[in-house]
Amino acid sequence: MTHECTEKRDPENIIKELKRKIDDFLGFAPIGIYQASDEGRFIMANPEMAWMLGYESPTVLLQQMTDIASQMFETNDSAEQFFFHLFEAEQVIAFRCKLKKKNGTSFWSSSYAKRAFNSEGRPDGFYGFAMDISRNIRMEEELQEANAQLVRIATLDGLTQISNRRKFDDYLSSEWKRASRDKHSISLILCDIDFFKPYNDNYGHQGGDDTLRQVAKCIEKNCRRPADLAARYGGEEFVVVLPETDSDGAVQVAENLRVAVRNLKIPHAYSKVHTCVTISVGVSTIIPTLQEFPATLIQKADSALYQAKKLGRDRVLACQS
Ligand code: GH3
Ligand code: MG
Ligand code: MG
Repeated sequence: MTHECTEKRDPENIIKELKRKIDDFLGFAPIGIYQASDEGRFIMANPEMAWMLGYESPTVLLQQMTDIASQMFETNDSAEQFFFHLFEAEQVIAFRCKLKKKNGTSFWSSSYAKRAFNSEGRPDGFYGFAMDISRNIRMEEELQEANAQLVRIATLDGLTQISNRRKFDDYLSSEWKRASRDKHSISLILCDIDFFKPYNDNYGHQGGDDTLRQVAKCIEKNCRRPADLAARYGGEEFVVVLPETDSDGAVQVAENLRVAVRNLKIPHAYSKVHTCVTISVGVSTIIPTLQEFPATLIQKADSALYQAKKLGRDRVLACQS
């Protein structure tokens, strides 16, 4: 026992001192602290609780908030959830919801509450803590948006804004596994713009880039099934993954792509096959087994494309396997 304590043994003094310390502690706390009755009125609140809810002081809060459920919670739903937890589980932990300020605006909060009991062990109101977490929520949203943006950037080709090679590799690999599990066929279409070097040399790199963008969008638009994925494979080459598609179906899609690109009617005075930009297309189809790799499908489409070029370009050729 210290000298100070022995000097203030008078119970009234002890209580006064304790109250002063508690008030000091509550006044300094950076979170809202309160005690409330079962009727939904505050019995005690610290300054932060009052300020957070837009009231000048705890006294004003205690006078003006007479029904916590309807005056403090932004929606009936969150009030119901809060009180359901409180009365059923006797406590509420990190309950996130929007609270209303006196002026009608709202903010995100995290609440903790616990059922209080009187000396006979009967429920007697509740006490709790509340924190304004609007800043954290804003930061979480910004972080989510930044992450989504990163994923988009990481999977999109910068020039054409269709999927990039990385996305294609990932997608082909997962669809390959699915096809070998389900014993389904999977097809691949490889497109290459005809005589694109002379196009670039004559219309300039800027003109070449514009054409790549148009062709890319055209190919993407003409792959209609949700599972189809069009990507830029590299340079002036594009690739399409067609899960659960047999050879006839894939050749049909490839032919549609070839015609669609021709129909863009992008003038190409330096092509030896047409007056407009055209593509040559190689198609391969396989029912994968676990012993094979996706590269097999790409190699087959590539050799079909090579044949299409050799036979005169502006055509579709399917790999016969
Ligand atoms: P082929 O009909 O046999 O396919 O002939 P090609 O001229 O299209 O083929 P080649 O592979 O010789 O040339 C491809 C050209 O594509 C080379 C380059 O000028 C052009 N190219 C590749 N990537 C880009 C790009 O990102 N932007 C632009 N503008 N041109 C590109
Ligand atoms: Mg090429
Ligand atoms: Mg080419």
